[in-house]
Amino acid sequence: MKEITSSEFESEVLAGGKVVLDFYSTECPPCDALAPKFEGLANLYGSDIKFFKMFRQQNKPLAEKLGVKSSPTLLFFDNGIQLEKSMSGGIKRSDIIHQLDSMIPAERVKEIKSQIIPTISEFDVLILGAGPGGLTAGLYLCQSKINTVLIDIALPGGQVSNTHSVSNYPGFIEPQPGYMLSHNMSEQTKQCGTIYKVAVDVTRIDLEKKEVVIDEFETVKAKKIIIATGTSPNLMGVSGEKEMKGKGISYCATCDAKYYGDKEVVVIGGGNSAVEEADFISKFASKITMVHQFDAFTANKQAQEKLLANPKISTLFEHEPRSFVRQGDKIITEVENLKTKEITKLNSDGIFVFIGMKPNIDLFREKLELDKWGYIKTNEDMLTSMPGVYAVGDVISKKYRQITTAVADGTIAAIAIAKELS
Ligand SMILES: Cc1cc2nc3c(=O)[nH]c(=O)nc-3n(C[C@H](O)[C@H](O)[C@H](O)COP(=O)(O)OP(=O)(O)OC[C@H]3O[C@@H](n4cnc5c(N)ncnc54)[C@H](O)[C@@H]3O)c2cc1C
Repeated sequence: MKEITSSEFESEVLAGGKVVLDFYSTECPPCDALAPKFEGLANLYGSDIKFFKMFRQQNKPLAEKLGVKSSPTLLFFDNGIQLEKSMSGGIKRSDIIHQLDSMIPAERVKEIKSQIIPTISEFDVLILGAGPGGLTAGLYLCQSKINTVLIDIALPGGQVSNTHSVSNYPGFIEPQPGYMLSHNMSEQTKQCGTIYKVAVDVTRIDLEKKEVVIDEFETVKAKKIIIATGTSPNLMGVSGEKEMKGKGISYCATCDAKYYGDKEVVVIGGGNSAVEEADFISKFASKITMVHQFDAFTANKQAQEKLLANPKISTLFEHEPRSFVRQGDKIITEVENLKTKEITKLNSDGIFVFIGMKPNIDLFREKLELDKWGYIKTNEDMLTSMPGVYAVGDVISKKYRQITTAVADGTIAAIAIAKELS
């Protein structure tokens, strides 16, 4: 794969043929995550598609002209024409493959796919999930000189990366932006030497054999597995939600509140997350209607008082959403009064949903003992019902799910494993 500069752009990229161009930066974890995937795909598709990379900081005017706003960004060209599709952030190998396949004839795709050689790598410990729990386990294991790999379907950091401000993580006097806290955790573990395989597709997990297949061709084996896959937001299961998920209905204020400057939004929920996130959204939105099924918020008193004093926020207690309907730029939320059954229509620009979380256990649900809510049961060493398989953080059965408790679980599992392996 060739590195080019702006001066070669015309002769190399626009001259013709099919091209994929990677704008990368230094000190850029998502760029580091992409590099080996890009290199591997260049070897595979290199005779049909030209692979180039360009250092974004040194080729800024061209990057801006081509609409590149973050690193890494992949742009695709066909016969000198820039294709509509571009990719940035935690880019998955499967997404690049999908795009490359669409650029060449189907027969060639078949031939190329037949050349993929399955690989196997072996480690002492495999950690699934690089949130605070997994990252801490990775740090402790690495410091014990245990050969450890961290696998995540997204970039490292977990839910903390999407939390706008964290004020209760010890060691910091001022509240910390969540993305900084998770970045620091991730870099600390990475610099220690833990191997990262992130923004990958986890295709298969065999807990008995301690094997995980990623991106369909790479088998990662280990002596022990730590599950640190955390939780995902619950969906409401209401008509219109699926269609508008990510297109007006959001589950992450840090990610999306900025798009609602001077706009009206509806927030569904009344626990800590809903109340704290509504307060954050009010920095942008002009009006927030909170819809909650109970007759009072269940969030802590301090957060509630702050919210109720916020003039931008009004509340609809004992109401539940029944449907979402798009009407031009607006979304109509039909809410039912749980007492009178009366339906009210709320007109807003966007919806934020914070109605609790569910454990990420889909790929191994049947294999482990779970509590009645579907969280993994562990003993005091964080060992699950299966020998050699540990679980830490929000995915386990416990009372309090916080960064500090996830970090503590990760510590315990790592020390227990280090003792067993020594
Ligand atoms: C909106 C919000 C605000 C919060 N604010 C605070 C706060 O202020 N203070 C606080 O202490 N806590 C807060 N929390 C809770 C805190 O974020 C969690 O307790 C903590 O992140 C749990 O860490 P974890 O490592 O268990 O899981 P997570 O942080 O959820 O990380 C799990 C990781 O596993 C990955 N993953 C999922 N499935 C798979 C799979 N199949 N294979 C591989 N990887 C997978 C995910 O991509 C993710 O990176 C907040 C949570 C939310 C939702």
